Amino acid sequence: MNSESEALLRNHGLRVTAIRLSVLNALNRRSFALSQSELEVDLGGSCDRVTLYRTLNTLCEHGLLHRIMDEKGTSRYAPCRDDCGATDWHFHTHLHFFCQHCQETRCLNETEIAIPALKDGFEIHNVQFSASGICGLCKAKDQNPQT
Ligand SMILES: [Zn+2]
Ligand SMILES: [Zn+2]
Ligand SMILES: [Zn+2]
Repeated sequence: MNSESEALLRNHGLRVTAIRLSVLNALNRRSFALSQSELEVDLGGSCDRVTLYRTLNTLCEHGLLHRIMDEKGTSRYAPCRDDCGATDWHFHTHLHFFCQHCQETRCLNETEIAIPALKDGFEIHNVQFSASGICGLCKAKDQNPQT
């Protein structure tokens, strides 16, 4: 996994550092988005808060991660697609799904939502589509409680 994350950093013109690798690995291991404080726990307190904050910002700015505001107003981070890059405005049009049961926020990458064309010079710099309910994993558990 390290080599994948290393390649990702190099492809985006970023220096490979231990903290950047740890953050990318932690997020790529999971199918849901993590908040900064969850990442801190995941990394075992191996880096200080300011460094982690800066790392997350750098990775977002360069199109390796994107930020999601969850239902409780907490910023969460999820990996980007391969074709994301450093652009002036970096946002995603897939749906973010908050599960009220497991409380996880997931990127539904296959659900791209079309942005309507805006008139009169209006220009979108950020957009976020979110929905909440019960995720497929929790639903499957509900239906087969033994498994
Ligand atoms: Zn992206
Ligand atoms: Zn769930
Ligand atoms: Zn997403």
